[in-house]
Formats: sequence, C-alpha cells, structure tokens
Amino acid sequence: MDEPVDPEKANRSVDDEQIVACRDVCRRFVPDLADGEVVHTKVCLYDMTENSDFVLDRDPDHPEVVYGYGFSGHGFKFAPLIGRLLSELALDKQPSSPIEKFSADPSRRRPPTVGAHLGKGK
Ligand SMILES: Cc1cc2nc3c(=O)[nH]c(=O)nc-3n(C[C@H](O)[C@H](O)[C@H](O)COP(=O)(O)OP(=O)(O)OC[C@H]3O[C@@H](n4cnc5c(N)ncnc54)[C@H](O)[C@@H]3O)c2cc1C
Repeated sequence: MDEPVDPEKANRSVDDEQIVACRDVCRRFVPDLADGEVVHTKVCLYDMTENSDFVLDRDPDHPEVVYGYGFSGHGFKFAPLIGRLLSELALDKQPSSPIEKFSADPSRRRPPTVGAHLGKGK
C-alpha cells in the first residue's frame, strides 16, 4: 500500500481485503502459510521522501536543528551509520561519509524516482 496518510488519522485496522492480499503473496512464496489462522495484525507507517533518499542535514535556517527522517522503509539496516552521521552533525564535526545527496534542500536532491521506490513501488 502506498497511500498518503496523516499519521494522527491513519486507519490502524486491517480489513479483509488486505488479509486476502497477504494470503495471495504468501501463496506465491510461502504456500504452507497462505491459509493459516491470522493470529495478529498490525498497521505501521513509513515515511517516503519524493526520491526515496533519506534526509540527513541541518535545518538551513536553524543550524542547531538536525534532521534524520524519510527513511523510506529502509532505515533500520542503516541505523548505526545514521546514528553516527547525526551525532557528527549534532557535534559540529565533519560527517565521516558524504551526505550531500541527503540534503534537506530540495534543489540539492536528485530528482524523484519515477514509478519505483527502491523496489517498494510498481
Ligand atoms: C512495515 C515496515 C517494514 C520495514 N522494513 C524494513 C526493512 O526490512 N529494512 C529496513 O532497513 N528498514 C525497514 N523499515 C524501516 C525502519 O523501520 C525505519 O526506517 C526506522 O525504524 C526509522 O527509524 P526512526 O528512528 O527514524 O523512526 P521510528 O523507528 O518510527 O521511531 C520513531 C519513534 O518516535 C516516536 N514518536 C513519534 N512521534 C512522537 C512524538 N510526537 N513524541 C514522542 N515520540 C514520538 C515513535 O513512537 C517511535 O518510537 C520498515 C518500516 C516499516 C513500517
């Protein structure tokens, strides 16, 4: 699902249609689970930037504010690196890896990806 939502108002319940869609995916990849009992459901959100790149930067107008967001469903595996880069920004150190492409300034970011978000789109 890639519908924009307001996190304060997002529908947090899972409907039958979504369960059927999950079963269809299971049927392709883990057929033994496809008709199993549903014991727990959960809706969670992730934030997508327009081009799927993270934002790791200072606020241009308030440099004391450091941003780390827009992990586009891929942030967890980068957590140690992101933590190090954010701490370097917060401590006014030179980032130990290049972060220009993760600018908060839209004019310094690469153009939006068309039709695909790192394998999560169409
Ligand atoms: C379904 C799903 C699948 C994913 N799969 C992968 C994957 O396979 N591999 C991967 O690398 N990444 C994956 N991710 C992405 C990864 O989980 C995120 O990129 C990562 O957790 C982002 O870390 P974060 O600290 O920025 O945000 P979060 O982990 O969302 O943490 C934000 C925290 O802030 C708290 N918070 C929010 N608002 C407020 C507030 N107003 N006041 C106080 N606290 C607040 C929240 O409760 C939460 O604890 C997935 C995400 C989702 C939703």
